[in-house]
Amino acid sequence: MSRRNASTGVAERGALPMLSRANLLVLAYGAATAGAIGTVGFSALSLGLPTGLFFALLADGIARPGSSVFYPTVTHGPRDGERVALSFDDGPDPEVTPAVLDALAKHGAHATFFTIGQLLVAHPQLARRIVVEGHELGNHSWRHSRWQNFFGAGEQAREIERGAQAIAGVTGSQVKPLYRPPIGLKSPPLARAAYQQQLTLVAWSLHSRDTRTADPKRIAQRVLQRIRPGDIVLMHDGHDLPGRHRPACAQATPLILQGLSEKGLQCVSVSELLQLAR
Ligand SMILES: [Zn+2]
Repeated sequence: MSRRNASTGVAERGALPMLSRANLLVLAYGAATAGAIGTVGFSALSLGLPTGLFFALLADGIARPGSSVFYPTVTHGPRDGERVALSFDDGPDPEVTPAVLDALAKHGAHATFFTIGQLLVAHPQLARRIVVEGHELGNHSWRHSRWQNFFGAGEQAREIERGAQAIAGVTGSQVKPLYRPPIGLKSPPLARAAYQQQLTLVAWSLHSRDTRTADPKRIAQRVLQRIRPGDIVLMHDGHDLPGRHRPACAQATPLILQGLSEKGLQCVSVSELLQLAR
């Protein structure tokens, strides 16, 4: 089993685990059921309770982005500092990303862009601008298929590797980018691919809900009311569906940055927040 850094929860790169978390979950289920049967005999309770718990854990592992049931997943950085990280998913987008970059530059802030590989390749100038201005490129898969969570480990690995190659093509670095799966969903095949590649999986601790409202003031208000040191904020400068955009993100970002600086919070990239050597 990989170890985790106590303050950030980041999986430390080490030997491959003997058993994946999914396998351990199944073993624990078997042991719990056997134990319950051994204690109280066959009954609806001895079979039903472990089964219910098993499926609750399974559902948590799949659907809760910050769950570490299948694989260690980072949701935030140290809570005792003054730093937070804004993360922008699903871009780059020629209509929104430039305005986000302008706002970040104006405030001297840095962020992490979890890009869709094929969009990064389609917009090389934007990709370069993100890196030149000191921001971090994170991997959000190659295609951002909404069905990716049903892919086998091989296809998961190809999506991850192709997304990472697109990033390496811009940065010229072979350092493995942080990975955030599409829609934040996880599965045992993703965990297998992630263990093989020793990935750092990153979710978030604060969702801006910029996917649900087009009102930039509401987005900014939500973030500024809830944010605390160490938070990783989820925003979207792009859209995974062709021809669609999220312009509210461009308008909300300057409001959020203004509010954060008034609170004395410093915006850094996710890797900086987690103090990863990169
Ligand atoms: Zn996404």
